[in-house]
Amino acid sequence: VLELDGVTKDYGDVAALRGVSFSVRRGELVAIVGPSGSGKSTLLHVMGTLERPSGGVVRVGGSDVARLDDRALSLLRAREIGFVFQQFFLAEHATVRENVADGLLYAGVRAAERYRLADEALERVGLADRATFTPNRISGGQRQRVAIARALVGSPSIVLADEPTGNLDSATGASIMALIHELNADGSTIIMITHDAGLAGQLPRRIRVLDGRVVSDTGVTP
Ligand code: ATP
Ligand code: MG
Repeated sequence: VLELDGVTKDYGDVAALRGVSFSVRRGELVAIVGPSGSGKSTLLHVMGTLERPSGGVVRVGGSDVARLDDRALSLLRAREIGFVFQQFFLAEHATVRENVADGLLYAGVRAAERYRLADEALERVGLADRATFTPNRISGGQRQRVAIARALVGSPSIVLADEPTGNLDSATGASIMALIHELNADGSTIIMITHDAGLAGQLPRRIRVLDGRVVSDTGVTP
């Protein structure tokens, strides 16, 4: 479902990625680990087509994203990829339901359908009863569930998460990890960055990044 072949990314003089190759199959649950500054977030952004690589090839669902223009890329991103970040990034003045429905803004889905799908996604993350709340009236763990619902609302083929438990206490983080395992068991392909060796250890595959390169890849499915 996702393939990287010799991917590099330079920011001016900084080589953030120096030739990364791996592929992820549908239904996998993968941890990306490595020290600060090793290129994990850059890798996630390139996988998610938020940034174009400087070199190499990124394929999502078989298509080489370099061949797509900005409009096609934005549609692919809206339909095939869901993002979850450490700092939730919720709109504070919108309701929980509106925040989740916004995950479909660029996917070409009518408003009524967006709200119906948002309610379905909120049901999946256990927050159906908070749909009309604004984010300031829910807890940090619930905020991250809203962000996960927003990532899932378009039934993306890949969910990319950058430190999804980074801003949560360990009990709340554990409940978010349980949700991630549950979503994966239901068929979602999930790639998550984590600093937490304990959390990474619970995941079936771990890709370790160091200095812009993959230095190990455990549990690769054959
Ligand atoms: P952390 O664990 O601290 O989040 P990371 O592994 O996610 O680190 P990246 O954010 O991918 O690391 O950064 C990799 C390298 O690329 C760093 O040297 C960083 O300074 C550089 N870098 C990342 N984004 C940019 C940018 N937008 N402009 C310039 N340099 C950048
Ligand atoms: Mg990072």
